[in-house]
Amino acid sequence: MAQQAVPSASPATPAARPAPLPLRVPVREILPWAVLAAVLGVVLIYFVGAEQGATSLFGGTWVHEFTHDGRHLLGFPCH
Ligand SMILES: [Zn+2]
Repeated sequence: MAQQAVPSASPATPAARPAPLPLRVPVREILPWAVLAAVLGVVLIYFVGAEQGATSLFGGTWVHEFTHDGRHLLGFPCH
């Protein structure tokens, strides 16, 4: 007797699949991490794009030299 790998649907048996549950996004759990990621992103963009260029919080040119390739890669004005 041959068995089918995929059972065929017959109109006599109703579908036994449960109704899909709506996806719940816990905003209160995600919000602090989203704020942290946004702050870190803004700090990173500042150091790559503006530090020791338009503005300067640190003396010397080491931040500029460290982020120089990223500055050119992202299209920030440099030199
Ligand atoms: Zn440059």
